[in-house]
Amino acid sequence: MIQAPKGTYDVLPEDVERRRVLTGHAERILGAAGYRRIETPAFESTELFARGVGEATDIVQKEMYSFDDGGGRSLTLRPEGTAPVCRAYIEHGMHKLPQPVKLWYLSSFFRAENPQKGRYRQFWQVGAEVIGSGSPETDAELIVLLAELLEAMGVRAARLRIASLGQPETRGAYREELTAYLRAHENELSAEVRARIDLNPMRAFDASDPGTQAVMANAPKLLDRLAPEDAEHFAQVRGLLNCADIAYELDPTLVRGLDYYTRTVFEFTSDALGAQSGVGGGGRYDRLIEQLGGQPTPGIGWAAGLERILLAAPELPVAADVVDLLVTVADRDSRDAFQAAFVVSREARRAGLAAQLELTGRSLKSALKHADRIQARYVAIVNDGEQTSLKDMSSGEQKELATGAVIAAILRGHSL
Ligand code: ATP
Ligand code: MG
Repeated sequence: MIQAPKGTYDVLPEDVERRRVLTGHAERILGAAGYRRIETPAFESTELFARGVGEATDIVQKEMYSFDDGGGRSLTLRPEGTAPVCRAYIEHGMHKLPQPVKLWYLSSFFRAENPQKGRYRQFWQVGAEVIGSGSPETDAELIVLLAELLEAMGVRAARLRIASLGQPETRGAYREELTAYLRAHENELSAEVRARIDLNPMRAFDASDPGTQAVMANAPKLLDRLAPEDAEHFAQVRGLLNCADIAYELDPTLVRGLDYYTRTVFEFTSDALGAQSGVGGGGRYDRLIEQLGGQPTPGIGWAAGLERILLAAPELPVAADVVDLLVTVADRDSRDAFQAAFVVSREARRAGLAAQLELTGRSLKSALKHADRIQARYVAIVNDGEQTSLKDMSSGEQKELATGAVIAAILRGHSL
C-alpha cells in the first residue's frame, strides 16, 4: 500500500468543515479591517528565502525543501509567507497603491521537520501583513486581530508574550555584551549552554538548569538597551494593547526564528497544545522590503498555524450535509427511466435543490435504505419516464406524479 509521505496528512471531507469555519472567521475579521486576500505560488526562488528569512535561521539552514528546476536554478517550496508577500509587493509595484497595503493569506507551507502532533512537513497558516506603515497603531491592530481570530475560534488557554528587538545594530552590540557576560560566568553555566555561547547566546535564557537560570536572572536584557525611538515605539504599542484590554506578558527573552525582525515581536501560545505550544506569532520587519530590492518600506505581520488553532479549539458541532432529493428508478431494466431520472436530478439542482442521483444500480429497497442513511428528505422513484412516485422520507407518505411535476412539488413542500 502506498501511503502519504511522513509528516503530511489528508484533509478528509469531514475535516473540511472546521477549516471552513476558520476561513470564515478570518475573512470576516480581517476583511472588516480592510485586509485583502493574496495567494502566492507554492514555490519560489531559493534566494528569496535565503535573503528574506536569513541564512543563519533554522528554516534556511535545515528546514527547506529545495530542488533544481531542471535548468540549474534552485527553487524552494515556501516555508513561510512573509518573504513571498513582500516579493509580490515589490514585483507588482504595490507602493503605488494607497498605503499601507493590508494583505492576508491562508496557504500551505513546507518545512523538513521532525513530524509530531502539531508539527508537520506540509501545514497551513493563516497570516496577515501590513506593508507601508511603521506606526505603533499598526503593530497593536495586528495583534488585536490575531487575538480576535483566536477568540472567535475558541482557542483555549491562549497567552500572549511580546518584546521589542530594536534595530539589528542594537542587537549586535547587545549580543556582544551578553556573550561577554556569559564568558565571565562560564563556570556557573551548564555544559550545553557553555558550548553554544558564541553560536546563540540568547538560548541561555531558555535553559532549565538552576545554575544557568541564576546567572541569567542578572544578565543584561535587550529591552533595557533599546534606542530611545525604539523604546518609545514599544511603549506606545503596549499602551494601545492596554486600551484594547489585551492581556500580555513582557518577555525580554522572546526570540523569533526569523532574522528580519525589527522592533515589536509577539507570540501567542496555548497550554492546550503540549510541546508544540506556539499558535501564532509575528513581528515588525522594517528592513525586509529594502533587503529584497524594494524602496525602504516598513512592514509587520503574523502567521498562525491552522492545525494548531484547530488542536487548541474545542470540537464544533458539524451539521450533516443537506440532501433534498435522491432520484432512483423503479425498474432497473428501463433505459427510459434511467434517462428521465438523470434529467430530474440535473434539473432539480438547477432549481436550487441539493439533489443526488442513485449511481450504483441498487435495488429500490436498498436505495430507500441509502436515502435514510444520507438523510434525504425526498426520494423520487421514476417509473417509466412519464410517471414518478415521490416519497416524503419524514412522513413516509408517497404520491404519484407526472415526472415533470416532481421538482415543483418539492419546491412547494419547501415553502410550506
Ligand atoms: P515552532 O517554534 O513551533 O517551530 P516557529 O517559530 O517555527 O514555530 P513560525 O515560523 O513563527 O513558527 O510560524 C508561525 C506558526 O506556524 C507557528 O506559531 C505554528 O502555529 C505554525 N507552524 C510552524 N511550523 C509548523 C509545522 N511544522 N507544522 C505545523 N504548524 C507549524
Ligand atoms: Mg519552527
